Amino acid sequence: MIHTQCAICETDAWDRELYPDRLGADAATYTRFSARRQPDRVHYRIVRCQKCGLIRSDPVLPEEELARLYCGSAFDYEEESVCARVTYARYVGESLPLVKGRTRMLEIGCGNGFFLEKALGLGFAEVHGVEPSRQAVEAASPAVRGRIKNELFQEGLYPPGSFSLVCGFQVLDHLTRPNEALRACRALLEPGGLALFINHDVGAWTNRILGERSPIIDIEHTYLYDKKTMVRIFCKNGFEVLRVFPVRNEYPLAYWCKMAPVPACLKIRLLPVLRRSRCGRWILPMRAGNLGILARVGG
Ligand SMILES: [Zn+2]
Repeated sequence: MIHTQCAICETDAWDRELYPDRLGADAATYTRFSARRQPDRVHYRIVRCQKCGLIRSDPVLPEEELARLYCGSAFDYEEESVCARVTYARYVGESLPLVKGRTRMLEIGCGNGFFLEKALGLGFAEVHGVEPSRQAVEAASPAVRGRIKNELFQEGLYPPGSFSLVCGFQVLDHLTRPNEALRACRALLEPGGLALFINHDVGAWTNRILGERSPIIDIEHTYLYDKKTMVRIFCKNGFEVLRVFPVRNEYPLAYWCKMAPVPACLKIRLLPVLRRSRCGRWILPMRAGNLGILARVGG
């Protein structure tokens, strides 16, 4: 296991343990590193930096092991991705008036490209994606598959200044080196280019009430941000923050039930019924604890 430090303060001097680990013997499986799986309360030891408030996992699996798990992770959230696409398109749409050139857009962690397909209609000359999961990229539609690099996001994948918008949806929490990733994003943006990220808000009332039972306290998440720490990590890496906002998600009732902290024995009975029923497919909009940030590079 690898010891981590606060990504904002770059030290562990102000750590306070929030929760001891709940890993068990076989925690590191491909299924556990697959997006939108049913929460199972398996997580690393969780600490909070008392100086800046950033919450993180410590220690975590070595990077090579994490890379192996993400590359082999499953893509089985076709239904949910349709709803997520609507949410992401709304926030990208709202940001468009501020995007100067609309030349190229990049999505980091694009899964099967479900949002890239939508982005094709938003007026960008080109859309591109990066995604480590082989299964997800194989599931991409022919319209976007050739635009997806099947690897982990890192510096040097594209020439500097290639993009007018870089997006990351439910990605930042997973990164073990967020400073490097944000600097790489900054380098990829043209002058005045924008970054739009949406991820969990550890400061949201839902997550504060649930505490360790919140689905975001999860082995996949290395860092967990709130409004304040999101702004700080973007500023630290050379971005000017334009907007930080709570995100409204639209999902079917059955999905909200899958993610809710109710006992697994109850879900096993309830979920199949909900999935078959009309009311389980009802789309419910909810501010369920996600946070968005829109930030700009100078120039
Ligand atoms: Zn800190």
